[in-house]
Amino acid sequence: MKADYETQRDWALNTQLVRGATERSQFEETSEAIYLNSGYVYKTAEEAEKAFKNEIERYVYSRFRNPTVAMFEKRLALIEGAEECRAMASGMAAVYAALASHLSTGQRLVASRAIFGSCQYICAELLPRFGIKTDFVDGSDLAQWKAALSTPADAVFLESPSNPGLEMIDLKAVCDLAHKAGALVIVDNVFATPLLQKPLTFGADVVVYSATKHIDGQGRCLGGAVLSSKQFITDKLTPFMRHTGPSLSPFNAWVLLKGLETLELRVQRHCENALTVARALEKQKGITRILYPWLPSHPQHALAKAQMSAGGSVISFEVAGGKEAAFRLLNRLKIIDISNNLGDAKSLICHPATTTHQRLPPEERAHLGITEGFLRLSVGLENVDDLLADLAQAFQS
Ligand SMILES: *Cc1c(COP(=O)(O)O)cnc(C)c1O
Repeated sequence: MKADYETQRDWALNTQLVRGATERSQFEETSEAIYLNSGYVYKTAEEAEKAFKNEIERYVYSRFRNPTVAMFEKRLALIEGAEECRAMASGMAAVYAALASHLSTGQRLVASRAIFGSCQYICAELLPRFGIKTDFVDGSDLAQWKAALSTPADAVFLESPSNPGLEMIDLKAVCDLAHKAGALVIVDNVFATPLLQKPLTFGADVVVYSATKHIDGQGRCLGGAVLSSKQFITDKLTPFMRHTGPSLSPFNAWVLLKGLETLELRVQRHCENALTVARALEKQKGITRILYPWLPSHPQHALAKAQMSAGGSVISFEVAGGKEAAFRLLNRLKIIDISNNLGDAKSLICHPATTTHQRLPPEERAHLGITEGFLRLSVGLENVDDLLADLAQAFQS
């Protein structure tokens, strides 16, 4: 007799990552099966009627649920310690579904200013079109959260550590303030991964991921996930998903399931490599500012240590000489690729001011510290000495 799902909640993390929620078909396959199908058949017309009345639980249509997607959802819920999970086609589909399924016209959202560019578009431009008011705060400044949440609010959206400034937000303090104001707290936990930081344990209500990043982590497919209580998933998210269609493809769910199996090994190596590279860059001439949560020089190092179990895969730094020097450095790299993705096995670097954050007005970029010489490096799984040598030759020549 195999362990049932609720028993699997007591398994250690790495056992959950490898085996959690696996459901074998009658063929007893080792690896999870890909149920690459859209519909399901009923033995009788009565069974179909019951399925549509929710009197029996079964698969009806892959826009609602799919067995391969469900394995991914249930495995991720085990890892996060969440009651339920719903997977989506991308991280942005997950962010939008979490916000749009919860908020209505006339309600108020408080968001941290340093969020992923597309999240900023949803909060600052899209939701206000539907009569939702968004107020932004500097996430690391608790006084601003206090002021913004001294009046009623319906949702709080934040990202910690933030992209690309690696700003930390005090999750427990903000969740307490938000709940007093009546708000649901949604945390975009992409940079921390499900392994390094557990927002639900600090009081968050909803956690969202771009599974495209570390969960796949090998540059293959897009994916996203929303994790929360059974109540939020049943009452808010499920009807929204069923009728608007941001569902994840079963094939991509299978790729992501395979990604979870090695997530702990990969994240551990990402963090080791990133810390080694960050320490080396701290001594590198030509760098005027370096940010990595696990360096004691990070302005919120103590908070990072209290909330996270390692520093993550991303380092941000500023080179002297502005855009010209930054571009020169990127163009000289021989191993590290220029790319706006992150959390990948391959080390990737980007210039946020001209790519991921080019849409922001210059004043807003300046406020977030995204200067012309600012670079974001996602440290991969290569041999760290090769990465150090690549960076050293690019700075030297
Ligand atoms: C990449 C990313 C997203 C969006 O995810 P996609 O899978 O690209 O849609 C959202 N938030 C953060 C912090 C990200 O890094």
